[in-house]
Amino acid sequence: MDKQQNILIIGAGLCGSLLALRLGQRGYNVTVYEKRPDLRKVDISAGRSINLAFSNRGIKAMKLVGLEEQVKALCIPMNGRMIHDVKGNTFLSNYSGREHEYINSISRGGLNALLLDEAEKHDNVTIHFNKKCKSVNFEKTTALFKDYESKSEFVEDADVIIGTDGAGSSLRKSYYLGKKFLFSFSQDYLSHGYKELSILPKRGDDYRIFKNALHIWPRGSFMLIALPNLDGSFTVTLFLSYDEGEYNFNNLNTDKKVLEFFKKEFPDALAQMPNLLEDFNNNPTSALGTVKCSPWHYKGNTLLMGDAAHAIVPFYGQGMNASFEDVVEFDKVLDANLGNWEAIFKAYENSRKKDTDAIADLAIDNFYEMRDHVANPIFKEKRKLEMALEKQFPNEYASKYSLVTFNEDLDYREAMLKGRAQDKAILNMLSDGDIDLNDDLKLILGKVQKETQEILEKDKIAGLK
Ligand code: FAD
Repeated sequence: MDKQQNILIIGAGLCGSLLALRLGQRGYNVTVYEKRPDLRKVDISAGRSINLAFSNRGIKAMKLVGLEEQVKALCIPMNGRMIHDVKGNTFLSNYSGREHEYINSISRGGLNALLLDEAEKHDNVTIHFNKKCKSVNFEKTTALFKDYESKSEFVEDADVIIGTDGAGSSLRKSYYLGKKFLFSFSQDYLSHGYKELSILPKRGDDYRIFKNALHIWPRGSFMLIALPNLDGSFTVTLFLSYDEGEYNFNNLNTDKKVLEFFKKEFPDALAQMPNLLEDFNNNPTSALGTVKCSPWHYKGNTLLMGDAAHAIVPFYGQGMNASFEDVVEFDKVLDANLGNWEAIFKAYENSRKKDTDAIADLAIDNFYEMRDHVANPIFKEKRKLEMALEKQFPNEYASKYSLVTFNEDLDYREAMLKGRAQDKAILNMLSDGDIDLNDDLKLILGKVQKETQEILEKDKIAGLK
């Protein structure tokens, strides 16, 4: 297709800046409009998922644009979950039995800045900051912007407009409010919100708790997690109900109550958080939700990508990875030379939507797994067994977590179907006493594979393919 085409991208976050870079590499004329100031010049990260879990699907996208090595320098490997009980005892549960499989903690700002720098190296890519998209006329392929510096408004046109403007997308809002075609949209909030806190480094940039793990304090209906940063600090996130339970965001309204809650539930974390009250009082409490919609595109004029098309809750650590994978999948469709944008958008959505729906559902499952099941004895037994199977049979067995996180060439939907069937098989057999941790592992593997296959067949018959 004609590379002189003008592509307008709304939003220079993680997805928009990667997309701009890739389309720039492919020779398109790309203009990006971002509502916030340039994050390379102004610190705008406070309270907003400062670091993220970054894994194979995201790494695959970095390989596509030639940035794998540069991104590695921003990563801190996390080999497993370090679980903290109320008494402060800890145990490490690895993410995989294969040593080369681990996830990484990465700075949102650092990664975004790198992608912006690389995109701007292309003469055919221009990025404008402080320009907020107010609405999109998707029939005319024009977008209305407000310039926060001059306070004026202006309209831009393009051959295509791609909205990568996150969970509150202006393009998606224009589809919805425009009522020009059948647009389905759902937004489901969790009853839990989140607040970011921190564990500061010891003197000399040293880490106060074990560096190479994702720390979890699971407490049934709420939890605390912590991910390491390169400067020796940890970004800590409290996930808690807004209004249910003895302690919730609505009733943690005095310093005394906040301290009482942490002393009771997270005493070992509190010991490392002398700055707790300052963080708690200064950082916002934010909502968590899942956005699904369809279609993602209007004819060959406009397309939604990243969180704008499919925002998910953060419990699988896959939102950014999925948004990066969007760019990889879109790139594949461009390679197919379909000849016009409508065919490209349609083919992309047809192949991609089932996968982003799957990771949205998996992320909700993991909310319950992380806050509750990880400390449950049968779940611990299952994890132990899976680690042993992955170690002994690295090419024959992969847990659901591994299928989703480390098998970047398997799509999310396949990973979900197989992973769920496997989980069901193992949990059933463990609780029925059909398998035991002391059995021969080869025997266990055979039983798990057979039972998984039977569950998959049954689900097919039930129409759940
Ligand atoms: P965003 O990153 O939201 O970027 C959208 C951009 O568009 C922003 O720069 C915004 O300023 C701009 N914008 C918005 N509206 C307009 C407008 N009207 N005009 C112009 N510009 C606009 N994912 C992971 O993979 N791993 C994790 O561990 C993880 N942890 C998370 C923890 C939390 C608490 C949360 C909330 C999310 C987490 N995620 C994680 C998900 C991840 O943050 C998102 O999936 C990812 O940021 C999506 O990228 P995006 O570019 O689509 O959207």
